[in-house]
Amino acid sequence: MEELMYKSTRNSDLRLTASKAVLQGLSEDGGLFVPTYIPKLDVSLEDLSKMDYRGVAYEVMKLYMTDYTEDELKHCIASAYDEKFDTENIVDLVWADGAYYLELFHGSTIAFKDMALSILPHLMTTAAKKNDIEDDIVILTATSGDTGKAALAGFDSVPGTKIIVFYPKGGVSFIQERQMVTQAGANTCVIGVNGNFDDCQSAVKRMFADTELKKTLAELGCRFSSANSINIGRLIPQVVYYVYSYVKLLGEGKIARGDEINVTVPTGNFGNILAAYLAKHMGVPIDRLICASNENKVLFDFFNTGVYDKKREFKLTNSPSMDILISSNLERLIYFIAGEDDDANKALMKSLTDEGRYEITDEMKKGLKDFYGGFAAEADTLSQIKKLYDDTGYVLDTHTAVASFVYDEYVKKTGDKKKTVIASTASPYKFTPSVLSAIEGNKSDADPFALVDILAEKSGVKIPRAVSELKNAPIKHDKVVEIDEMKGAVLEFLR
Ligand SMILES: *Cc1c(COP(=O)(O)O)cnc(C)c1O
Repeated sequence: MEELMYKSTRNSDLRLTASKAVLQGLSEDGGLFVPTYIPKLDVSLEDLSKMDYRGVAYEVMKLYMTDYTEDELKHCIASAYDEKFDTENIVDLVWADGAYYLELFHGSTIAFKDMALSILPHLMTTAAKKNDIEDDIVILTATSGDTGKAALAGFDSVPGTKIIVFYPKGGVSFIQERQMVTQAGANTCVIGVNGNFDDCQSAVKRMFADTELKKTLAELGCRFSSANSINIGRLIPQVVYYVYSYVKLLGEGKIARGDEINVTVPTGNFGNILAAYLAKHMGVPIDRLICASNENKVLFDFFNTGVYDKKREFKLTNSPSMDILISSNLERLIYFIAGEDDDANKALMKSLTDEGRYEITDEMKKGLKDFYGGFAAEADTLSQIKKLYDDTGYVLDTHTAVASFVYDEYVKKTGDKKKTVIASTASPYKFTPSVLSAIEGNKSDADPFALVDILAEKSGVKIPRAVSELKNAPIKHDKVVEIDEMKGAVLEFLR
């Protein structure tokens, strides 16, 4: 078999090593990097079931990061998945009310984005060394709330890197904002933007494509890279936790050899669920991929009609990290179901930019048969939190509750009772006012830190350090800019 390389969803002839794709983030043609083929696991599921998280991570990642040596990759994995996580297992699988909750929030910022952003800085600095890059790497990121803090924590004080995070002012939770604006580290910069997440993400994409800006950066001894979920250095580490969940269930006898499971993922930018899709195609017996949206239900409509239409009102919901109308990673799925036809993908993406919508062909729709799209309205999300709490005492965060609700609806509609893993993407402490309101009635006016103490009582779950340390942390970043001032703010920080 030829060595796995990376090509672009907008140029199938391109060939880049994994380390170069990690460094570059986004392809110069505006496309996303995809592997030239989806590798098959070369260790049996039984053997994997005897390994810990780090062991499984190596067996999965070695297949995708082929120009990293065994030592390099194992070093990256060991540096990422260590005592920063508050569970020795790195992720926990918790049974509650008919499904397994895959708790992906045990990292330093209590959101699942830690899973990928704990390792990305190591993959990136290793890649820089391998490719003789002397410039400082500048991470430019737009965040809907969780990526920002997870990326800041990952890159804080990493030599040879700087990180700039833009977030929608007023579009993230109190705890999320506080986590970001208290970030220490001389190489970090956090800026609020008067706009929504899509505005932030689009402006960041424009800066990546800005050749003038690139030249200016080179003069300053810098180069951009991306920590957004479009980077393969974020996508690939996420494949691991779906392989791990399956073999964990297998190892514990919860499923038998060959049994299929379903996976439900609360979805925004489509990175997490795409990782599950890759795990399935690597040979993990996963049947349905249940894609759960909140009221910004572009993906629900897409899976049900084949039309992707972003021309609609943008809603601020109680699951803000999923408030997204342009799911960037979907482009990778589009490319796969178009038979890896770069021209077909390019035409659809052009239509999205020019007309705000595109429609896939009937042939392409066949490639979506593994997916099921559902959504939860605001009231459904809150009632789901209450239902689980009342029935089991288990407390979900708002994003996970979206998935949990959609999963229950899926079972009602289809009668499909396969064992199911629901990705639990954030600690309930990150969204305390919404979570407590769901359990006890409206709490939106109360002091957020007082609510944290109440939640601790209710849930019996220890307050994570990521929250307790915020109370007295000084605010280090208070800049807020207009959308057209973002580029200027980047240059100001770098100079
Ligand atoms: C980012 C995020 C999501 C959405 O994940 P995608 O990979 O962007 O689809 C869901 N839940 C939480 C808590 C998040 O932070």
